[in-house]
Amino acid sequence: MDVFQDRIGTDQASRILQLALQSEGVQEATTSFLIHDLSRMQQRIESLQAVFPPNCLHALAIKANPLVAVLRHAAQAGAGLEAASIEEVHLALAADCRPERIVFDSPAKTVAEIESALELGVLLNANSLPELERIETCLSRMTSTSRIGIRVNPECGAGSIAETSVASKTSKFGVRLSEHRSQLIAAFEKYSWLTGLHVHVGSQGCSLKMLADAAVEIQTLREQIEAASQRKLQFIDLGGGLPTAYLGDDTPPSPADYMQTLRQRAPKLVDGSLDLVTEFGRSVQAGCGITFSKVEYLRPEQSMLITHVGADLLMRPAYMPANWKHAFALCDASGQLKEGAQSETTIAGPLCFSGDIIGRQVPLPAAQPGDWLVIRDTGAYTVGMWSRHCSRSIPSVLGYQATPSPNLVSLRQAETPQSMVQFWS
Ligand SMILES: *Cc1c(COP(=O)(O)O)cnc(C)c1O
Repeated sequence: MDVFQDRIGTDQASRILQLALQSEGVQEATTSFLIHDLSRMQQRIESLQAVFPPNCLHALAIKANPLVAVLRHAAQAGAGLEAASIEEVHLALAADCRPERIVFDSPAKTVAEIESALELGVLLNANSLPELERIETCLSRMTSTSRIGIRVNPECGAGSIAETSVASKTSKFGVRLSEHRSQLIAAFEKYSWLTGLHVHVGSQGCSLKMLADAAVEIQTLREQIEAASQRKLQFIDLGGGLPTAYLGDDTPPSPADYMQTLRQRAPKLVDGSLDLVTEFGRSVQAGCGITFSKVEYLRPEQSMLITHVGADLLMRPAYMPANWKHAFALCDASGQLKEGAQSETTIAGPLCFSGDIIGRQVPLPAAQPGDWLVIRDTGAYTVGMWSRHCSRSIPSVLGYQATPSPNLVSLRQAETPQSMVQFWS
């Protein structure tokens, strides 16, 4: 099975939980913690390197999982890093990622941020035509080794989830191709430092066809630019994308499927005639994570259990339950997978507001206080979207490594009530 489609099964989750319960990282008082499977993440990065043309820079989206220790492992495995803010550029540097392997993509870059990115030499994608003017002004005062591209909105549709869609007509991202094709081409004639095109369509709810449509648009635009400006583009950044499997019947395409589609529909994009950049986030990270959270109380009359992570960790499932769902399992206090008759259970978090529900009508065996709820596929857009509502502490995150023998390392310590006092002071 493809390493992107292979998920951490409930049996493996139970074995990892038992290992964690014996480790120093999890104590009697621990109510929840996350695991990130570093071996799996490394395999996925290596698989991207094997499937895409050599020399492709796979810059993982930091916002999917911003833990510096995770980023460091990713960089060591050969990934670059994609930053959505100047702060994320600093996270990438803290993870010892080389500047030329960092991609800076914020839609709201200030002049100071642009200058600092140019000084560092990170790859920079402008989000608009006015941003190009700012870059030109900066470059009139300094020299830089940065590669610079511009983000294009290919307007190839919104996908099935409006709130996370980035390539509809009304998106704030990129220069709209339908309106501004000639200005885009003119920009490449005007600015010799502009050498790349960037597109990012989104992942969950997006089809392979949408991603390929975007690639075809970009390839056409590339040809028009190269004809008009009489020079070759250096790079095309295809952005992130590729959905991930959250529920049993989800069958997302693999990077190999994606590559095959690109070869068929936009062959000149992948023939080695220019550098490729990708910015996968969710598809690499989501399936590397599992969360364990103790069952604290039962409310049998409502078929409900109350546990220690809720809308703080799983913001999208809590606020947009129709679109975002995780799969769950239940282990007993010693980490053994609970089996037996299942009934529909409501999973409520610890926050003091009634929308703090992370699972509805979830089939689970009978729970009791002290059991561990297993939340699958929590490696992306979870701890990185942590909400401070009700001031709960971020749980610890442990790294799981399968070799040489299964072991756990600390990736981030749990916050404490004292950290929260500091946070709000
Ligand atoms: C969020 C984002 C990504 C990562 O997207 P996934 O959906 O996690 O693959 C890549 N590029 C840009 C510009 C982004 O904003």
